[in-house]
Amino acid sequence: MLTLFSTSTLTVGFPDRALQPRSIGVAATDKPSYCQWSEKDDAEAYILMRNAADLFAKSGTPQHLIIGRQSSARPFYWEVVPMATCSSLFGRVWQQAQVLYRTYFGGIPPIPPPFSVSDLNAHIPPLQQSDPPRETCPFCKPEVLNRQQILKGEHVSMLLDHRPVGDQHLLIVANSHIENFYGLSSDAFAEASKMTKIALRHFGTGHETCLMFKSGRDAGQTVPHWHEHIIISEKPTSSLWSRLKVLWNIVWGGTPIKPQTLQTRVTQLRIDFGDSSLDSPSPAS
Ligand SMILES: [Zn+2]
Repeated sequence: MLTLFSTSTLTVGFPDRALQPRSIGVAATDKPSYCQWSEKDDAEAYILMRNAADLFAKSGTPQHLIIGRQSSARPFYWEVVPMATCSSLFGRVWQQAQVLYRTYFGGIPPIPPPFSVSDLNAHIPPLQQSDPPRETCPFCKPEVLNRQQILKGEHVSMLLDHRPVGDQHLLIVANSHIENFYGLSSDAFAEASKMTKIALRHFGTGHETCLMFKSGRDAGQTVPHWHEHIIISEKPTSSLWSRLKVLWNIVWGGTPIKPQTLQTRVTQLRIDFGDSSLDSPSPAS
């Protein structure tokens, strides 16, 4: 990553191989695994990424994708990926296909964003208010939560995705109807980070992991209720066939898990994560 500036614990810069030309990367120095990120790292990353999203929005690009990836060969960093507003379905599909292709087959050279990067650390942008639960929203429906919920926190919950695109596919979902990252509080992000690390430690941190949340339809957000995908590939996705398979699943959706299998897996994960304390401290920075 080409460093632009550093905070007390993090580095902000341009990814060498970006998913979009103006992407911003946020890395923690000497912490290749996301499980090594401390609460302070998460809190600083939240401010930097909220500011990046806000500054992109003020520059005319309100939709974005935030993605964090790691593997044995690749240290973890977050990438804030601005996504253009599209006037047609074709434009939207094409843009998402390009970003997904770059996710698994290499990125593109970065160019500077349309704002001063020193503003990224300037302030905490105001939060958009959450809405009351919506009848049409799957993540507001009690029956969906009863079926798929593994852990429930104060602000967010962990669910098993019923159409997994990787070997393991979990979701962190806001408890209230928050549309996207613009409405997610720092406390909710902190809790989401803790839950994410619980999942990564459980399944083993040596796998290829992709964390992803989207803001806006043109960024690929299909359910307008904030949720983070945790996609873990236990086999390396280095082969062409493996990469194409993951790509195919992300675009078209994975095969739905049978109701009985879903129930068995959720029950087992509730037992496995039952003693996972959300209050346990993260490693010190
Ligand atoms: Zn909702």
